Amino acid sequence: MHGISTAYNLVNQGKTVAVLDRDLIASHTSGGNTGKVTSQHGLIYKYLYESNGEDYARRYFEANENALKNIKEIIAKENIDCDFEEKSAYVFTKDGKDMDKLKQEAEYCKRLGIPNQLTTKIDLPIDIVGAVRLDNQGQFDPVKYINGLVQAIINKGGKIFENSKVIDIEERDKEYIVSTEKASITTKYVVIATRYPIINFPGYYFLKMYQSTSFSMVFDTKTELNTDGYYINTELPTISLRTVKANGKNLLQIVGGDYKTGTGICGDPFKFLENKVLEMYPQAEKLSQWTAEDCISLDKIAYIGNFSNILKNIYVATGFNKWGITTANIAGDIIADKILGYKNKYEDIFKSSRLNPIKNKDELANMLKESGNGIILRKVKDTPNPTCTHLGCTLSWNPLEDTWDCACHGSRFSKDGKVIEGPAIKDL
Ligand SMILES: Cc1cc2nc3c(=O)[nH]c(=O)nc-3n(C[C@H](O)[C@H](O)[C@H](O)COP(=O)(O)OP(=O)(O)OC[C@H]3O[C@@H](n4cnc5c(N)ncnc54)[C@H](O)[C@@H]3O)c2cc1C
Repeated sequence: MHGISTAYNLVNQGKTVAVLDRDLIASHTSGGNTGKVTSQHGLIYKYLYESNGEDYARRYFEANENALKNIKEIIAKENIDCDFEEKSAYVFTKDGKDMDKLKQEAEYCKRLGIPNQLTTKIDLPIDIVGAVRLDNQGQFDPVKYINGLVQAIINKGGKIFENSKVIDIEERDKEYIVSTEKASITTKYVVIATRYPIINFPGYYFLKMYQSTSFSMVFDTKTELNTDGYYINTELPTISLRTVKANGKNLLQIVGGDYKTGTGICGDPFKFLENKVLEMYPQAEKLSQWTAEDCISLDKIAYIGNFSNILKNIYVATGFNKWGITTANIAGDIIADKILGYKNKYEDIFKSSRLNPIKNKDELANMLKESGNGIILRKVKDTPNPTCTHLGCTLSWNPLEDTWDCACHGSRFSKDGKVIEGPAIKDL
């Protein structure tokens, strides 16, 4: 999503832009998310206040609210029919123990001037203990939004190449040669927008994030479904809910069952989510289901900016922590400003080269979980499992989706060995 956002900003400034996508645009995470356009990224503001200070937390909120406003303006300007609706964002708990967390979040938000409200009611038949609500947020159909941006890019002279896997980026005479299997492009600037960067060195993003998969399902609840908001819980396993418009009717999307890609899946998360919906709506009928993954940074903040201090004119945005919609808009602005030579007022907040992301011990432990196993298995055991073409970790079989998955960096391969999710480039 941030690749398309950056391209959109640059064509608007008269730059010559080409977007290369290995598959179809929006066929990966940006097309398979929950479409919540929001500054409420779970319970984040107390954490940001304590880890990075008051000014930082306030500016993080401001950057995201600004992105929400930008997205609304783009939708209006480009006349994008993407089912945008204004909604309130809720974080709720069913567990009395987590009520303190909600109260503290509300308290910190008050200090920061963020208009979060504590409440005990939501418009879904879930027995909650409490929730924090942030009004004037948005939701949309992410595929329709991205397709609208793509059309605007094409109308303004930009080029979109689908089914064009980048296999190499080589620096030559202060320019870059970006190659696919069939052709190459010479360019002064490169933006790596592959979710997980496909280049390992320099940059070393594989040392500071991991990929997490979520399960997503859509149901017809067979009821008149009208909610003023969308919802995510505090406790684990995560459950995220929203209404989705289809032929004038509101359907229910449920997302959750998050796990580190390539590690053992606990039970059947699709069944778990289906049961959660049936508890609320016993007549509900399942219409579709899929999985999607995203990169989780170690300090809950995306990495946006220069790919590395060593390489000039290569940019990246990654580690969106499953909140990459407003953040993609922010990334599109920061990276376009860098290319155009402007200073962006939020670039320091998401600085990609920051050295202190290992503040969050839980995420560090998650990153290390199974990665060590993957490497050790390869070194000492004669294992029948294939090894990843990215950095050589042993892959594990995912029986729910019939894929080979990498616990180290989240690459995924079909059972006949084709790359379906990067950072791997080569098939098995
Ligand atoms: C289940 C789920 C729900 C979410 N819900 C929300 C939400 O409600 N709100 C929110 O703000 N965020 C949400 N997110 C997060 C958000 O969807 C992501 O952060 C965002 O979509 C990531 O965008 P991206 O462009 O980095 O990655 P992607 O959308 O995966 O795009 C990367 C693109 O790179 C291409 N590519 C990969 N390798 C190559 C190569 N070698 N050559 C050329 N192209 C290549 C791929 O084909 C793909 O099209 C959610 C995430 C998940 C997993």
